[in-house]
Amino acid sequence: MKGQNILIIGSGISGVGAVKLAKHLNYNVRLTSKDPISQLNKTLFYDLGVEFEEEKHSLSHIEWCNWIIKSPGVSATIPLLILAKQEGVPVISEIEFAYRHTEANIIAITGTNGKTTTSKLLWYILKNAGLSVGLAGNIGISFSESIIHNQFNYYVLEISSFQLEDIIEFKPSISILLNIEKDHLDRYRDFSHYIQTKMKIQMNQDSGDSFIYCFNNQNIIDNLENVKANKYAFGSFDMDMNEYGGCLKNEQITINTIKNNFTMTIHNLALQGKHNFYNSMAAAIAASTLGIKNHIIKQSLSDFKGVEHRLEFVAQVSGVRFINDSKATNCNSVYYALESTTSPIIWICGGVDKGNDYSILSDLVQQKVKSIVCLGEAKKIDSAFNKSVESVTQTNNMKAAVRNAFALADAGDTVLLSPACASFDLFQNYEERGRVFKDCVLAI
Ligand code: ADP
Repeated sequence: MKGQNILIIGSGISGVGAVKLAKHLNYNVRLTSKDPISQLNKTLFYDLGVEFEEEKHSLSHIEWCNWIIKSPGVSATIPLLILAKQEGVPVISEIEFAYRHTEANIIAITGTNGKTTTSKLLWYILKNAGLSVGLAGNIGISFSESIIHNQFNYYVLEISSFQLEDIIEFKPSISILLNIEKDHLDRYRDFSHYIQTKMKIQMNQDSGDSFIYCFNNQNIIDNLENVKANKYAFGSFDMDMNEYGGCLKNEQITINTIKNNFTMTIHNLALQGKHNFYNSMAAAIAASTLGIKNHIIKQSLSDFKGVEHRLEFVAQVSGVRFINDSKATNCNSVYYALESTTSPIIWICGGVDKGNDYSILSDLVQQKVKSIVCLGEAKKIDSAFNKSVESVTQTNNMKAAVRNAFALADAGDTVLLSPACASFDLFQNYEERGRVFKDCVLAI
């Protein structure tokens, strides 16, 4: 990177991580944040000698900086970035910045749904195999911050579409694209723009690299023409043993890579549900291409503990099972939650609707859901499903939602919190929503 002056936009986890790495590398750093900056971060910036401004983006920074590092939450259309483009100031993402300062072998995972689950699962397999491996990205610790403190040989990176927007040289040796579904359409020009952004995960890969993708996702299949990496498809299809990839058939998964192959019954997989069989296959293919032994992969796939708030079993009370799927903030993830539940369902849903099209859930709701309890705004859900279920009721607090759902359930039923919506009307975030749900269940 030519020039010593770096402007960082955004003061969240990525922005702060980039500040720390940039100072560690002795760059001159300024930070600009549209949001208020926490006292903790202000103290950090004073200590590091970083100039900062909050609640605005002054255009004058453009005269000073040689580079801009953009946080994922920042839109490319803000005046500061438009001016940067006009003036020819390079803009990179925080992921790109960190990538340029590490020698580690990168495994990057993206998709509309399943990123956290698959990233944690793959990291777990590689740890069990004794590799020196870090887990970072869109998962709590920024890639930039992690490389300051660690010297891992491998990184499993969870990557969102926002983080892919400003990559330039970022080149994972393995990339995984789990699925592409309609989401974040407020941020992108149209769906095709979102698809193209997701496809960037593999844009710098070459024939020495691997690209692992879902065969049953048409949005991916339609966009494979420029892929240069070795392709590994996973999904439900008839896989020829001359092909590399993973398939789900007759209640077993088969994994076949250049290094090895194995089969495993789905009943031994820790993560249940079709979507999770797909996540398990994606992680297993990646591990296998790295030469991890079959028995380690199989053991890890069967004793992985799962991730909080993703189809998490909470308790069984009087024969009623309670499942916390608070992270399901779009209809696609709810689809898989309903699909993977085998008993009749009392479905707790609702919150801030991001423009949901509930029609993809119609058949499953008709077949599996007995009653719906809406948390928060209920109109849209009510009109989508009131003819398919026994009742749609509405409440504004979790305690009442859990009690109502429990009252509606019979022994053998499942009460499923899988909201299809964001949580910001009643809770700080999906984690708080999931924790409150679990507390209310345990208090019955
Ligand atoms: P992400 O990090 O992409 O948001 P998570 O692993 O946190 O994904 O899971 C988010 C939600 O999506 C959960 O409700 C989970 O059950 C569901 N989910 C997980 N994997 C998949 C998948 N492959 N396809 C669809 N939904 C999935």
